Amino acid sequence: MLAQETEHFDVVIVGAGLSGVGAAKHLQDRSPDRTYVVLEGRAAKGGTWDLFRYPGIRSDSDMYTLGYVFKPWKAAKAIADGPSILAYVNETAAENGIDPHIRYGHMVKRADWDSETAAWTVTAEVDGAPVRFTCNFLFMCSGYYSYASGYRPEFAGSADFKGQIVHPQHWPADLDHSGKKVVVIGSGATAVTLVPEMAKTAAHVTMLQRSPTYVVSRPAEDPAAEWLKAKFKPMTAYRITRWKNVLLGMLFFRMARTRPEKVKEQILGMVREKLGPDYDVATHFTPTYNPWDQRLCLVPDNDLFDAINGGAASVVTDHIERFTETGILLKSGQTLEADIIVTATGLNLEVLGGAEFAVDGAPVKFSETLSYKGMMYSGVPNLASSFGYTNASWTLKADLTCAYVCRLLNHMTRTGLAQCTPVRRPGDEGDQDWLDFSSGYVQRSVHLFPKQGAKAPWKQHQNYALDLMTLKFGKVDDGAMVFSNPVSKVRKAAVEKKLAA
Ligand SMILES: Cc1cc2nc3c(=O)[nH]c(=O)nc-3n(C[C@H](O)[C@H](O)[C@H](O)COP(=O)(O)OP(=O)(O)OC[C@H]3O[C@@H](n4cnc5c(N)ncnc54)[C@H](O)[C@@H]3O)c2cc1C
Repeated sequence: MLAQETEHFDVVIVGAGLSGVGAAKHLQDRSPDRTYVVLEGRAAKGGTWDLFRYPGIRSDSDMYTLGYVFKPWKAAKAIADGPSILAYVNETAAENGIDPHIRYGHMVKRADWDSETAAWTVTAEVDGAPVRFTCNFLFMCSGYYSYASGYRPEFAGSADFKGQIVHPQHWPADLDHSGKKVVVIGSGATAVTLVPEMAKTAAHVTMLQRSPTYVVSRPAEDPAAEWLKAKFKPMTAYRITRWKNVLLGMLFFRMARTRPEKVKEQILGMVREKLGPDYDVATHFTPTYNPWDQRLCLVPDNDLFDAINGGAASVVTDHIERFTETGILLKSGQTLEADIIVTATGLNLEVLGGAEFAVDGAPVKFSETLSYKGMMYSGVPNLASSFGYTNASWTLKADLTCAYVCRLLNHMTRTGLAQCTPVRRPGDEGDQDWLDFSSGYVQRSVHLFPKQGAKAPWKQHQNYALDLMTLKFGKVDDGAMVFSNPVSKVRKAAVEKKLAA
């Protein structure tokens, strides 16, 4: 069989989710001279919003900030359901002619940088066989978790359980929960989404949690946004609402960091008001950590509280002793009867799409690199990744990252330089975790991720306004980013020998 020819593109984008489709649009608009291809491992685009199919799947941040900077979110619901978000991504790809650039079923397995040609060789697996591409710039838009499997801890006795055990990442299309007793294990965004939705038709839904999370209710529709839509052109209204939500989110986060007790009391006061004086808010809705030490859980229009008040759902805070034939035995001795157990126990985080990387033959260990501006990695040339905020919507940072990558590409075109490498200088140390979150799913995997430093450009600010200033208006040639052109290995060796003599 003839080996398949290696195709070359200026830019390879890995992943056709919210970030990858956005990256393609930014690239087309801002660096139209660059050719590109999008390699997607699955058979469809949309990423998260195509993968997750559990009942009620929705955003837990508002679509005015989760939407792209270039495409107004027009629907009334600011907290949107998964299919509407998927339709928004699909529409973006269709109306911008991105679809023909996407290659489905291309799972990227490795990428090798060669300084002599200033190019990556990207190897994707297609139907079990390797297919190779070369590119000058590699843009990883592969998300942050493993698509292969969600996180499910081992529960003693799970083989004894006679009902069905389901993980939200692998929801069976034909699962009928109506009239059934359901236990949802977990207290995160997925659990608080699933519980009120399943409670609409289930016999009863119990949310079983080891420890509580902060839960905040917000109207699904934003009256101010709707008013603006009626008064202004769609883009103007969208921009104003986007900034309103950015600023309110930043204010709330700042208050949570500077006056945690006050914010904690405000959140708990709202929960008490919704659930009434007899409800045990201290046990079920009062976390031991401060607000924003972990992501807050947003519920639209009080749906979780309404389900609890109506008796269709309840919360149990306890530890699991073991699964039994008919449900779950808790450490307290209580048993929860169940026909269906949902393990909403989280994701397995994954670094850069689980691919292997090497620079001039040396394997890259991302945990030994420093994150540059939250998107590139010390010592790794011509590679960026899209990673959103932990304290605000993903796309706010994804948009800034894409625009910055285009500035970088345009700078290289203008200066005739082919390679850009973030390089640590003396004093650029860093041993802080990349993600400053105490959540279990972060703590399980954070050691695999790059570190961050104490100051720019190696520090992650998790602050949109600051990033906007730095990434949109800051210098591309900032001293830490080293621009160069390929040097042949023979010449390099000769120079090194001369220097050593
Ligand atoms: C249930 C759920 C709800 C969420 N809700 C919100 C929210 O409300 N607000 C918010 O800000 N964030 C939310 N997030 C985070 C969310 O993932 C991001 O908002 C956003 O969807 C990420 O988009 P992405 O394109 O970067 O990554 P993804 O959506 O994960 O897409 C990555 C794409 O890359 C592909 N890919 C991965 N590895 C490879 C490879 N090696 N080769 C080829 N292709 C590859 C995948 O198949 C996928 O299509 C949520 C996450 C989950 C799981």
